[in-house]
Amino acid sequence: MVQKVAIIFDEIFLKHDPGNFHPEKPERLKIILDRLKDEGLKSRIEIFSPERATKEEILWNHSESLYHLIENTRGKGYFQIDADTVANEYSFDAACYAVGAQKTGLKLLFEEGFKYAFTLVRPPGHHAEKDRAMGFCLFNNIALAAHYAKNLYGIKRILIIDFDLHHGNGTQKSFYYTDEVLFFSTHQYPYYPGTGNYNEIGAGYGIGYTINVPLKAGCGNDDFIFFYQSLLKPIAFQYKPQLVLISAGFDCMINDPLGDFEVTLEGIARITELFKEIAYNFANGKILFTLEGGYNLKNLSEGIFTIVQKLVEEEVVYPFSEVSPTSYALDLFRKIKDMLTFKGIWDV
Ligand SMILES: [Zn+2]
Repeated sequence: MVQKVAIIFDEIFLKHDPGNFHPEKPERLKIILDRLKDEGLKSRIEIFSPERATKEEILWNHSESLYHLIENTRGKGYFQIDADTVANEYSFDAACYAVGAQKTGLKLLFEEGFKYAFTLVRPPGHHAEKDRAMGFCLFNNIALAAHYAKNLYGIKRILIIDFDLHHGNGTQKSFYYTDEVLFFSTHQYPYYPGTGNYNEIGAGYGIGYTINVPLKAGCGNDDFIFFYQSLLKPIAFQYKPQLVLISAGFDCMINDPLGDFEVTLEGIARITELFKEIAYNFANGKILFTLEGGYNLKNLSEGIFTIVQKLVEEEVVYPFSEVSPTSYALDLFRKIKDMLTFKGIWDV
């Protein structure tokens, strides 16, 4: 069977609009869709409409008060939630469908024979906490994907990888005390939202199941790929995830207006190969990607095009790139390794 990538999208995601000067704008999705429909990949994608998440499902990860705050933005015009998070009259509906898209994506993976799904959603989700919408995010889409996988498909070991430039504080908090979700994040640090230092490794049953890689401004392919190959890979091979979820943020790429990393398409391609390898070994190949940030439109469309291209490649080849990490990266690696091996959880 020719492998296709399921794309989950709905027009409602274009109607959520935080305003003319906001970087998280509807054009982000339009340019991605145009690129994916180009010749070459057109026959390798299939577009599906999302279901709408119910209130009960959203409350798996969020408080009733946050749900009502977002619900009450309906019909109010522009509603400022915090300094950079804005809702308009369509945002609540868009947010419910962005969560529901995760359910649809998982259904395609677990019931319809797809290996890969990419939910092209807005608003993004990884900053949203139980009781707080922030950082352009209203509900936490990827965290709810993990809840769907647990509650609908009985999945017990879920790996969430967050390669957005920013730390996924909301996702981290959702699963800080559990070993049923392993959260791995690379991000610019110190930077918004302020969390994600290497010593944040989970607590209680969750000790060792949160792994943060705080990288400096200027981080390029070598340091970036190094942590995926040398830290994520050995840990993932010990954890043996039954499902791989990816918070895909393209603001980690070079020349993003909100970020200072210098990752290129080569870096995105290399980590995608690794995601495939992990999923192929333990999760029947299943990967669900969810769009987070990325504000350079060309990087967004080319980044996702590259991921889809890598996913549908026929051969299963996982070349190990030669990388030359900086002394900063090597030192950080030692600190993370000491922390994790001291706790006796992972052999890195
Ligand atoms: Zn971001």
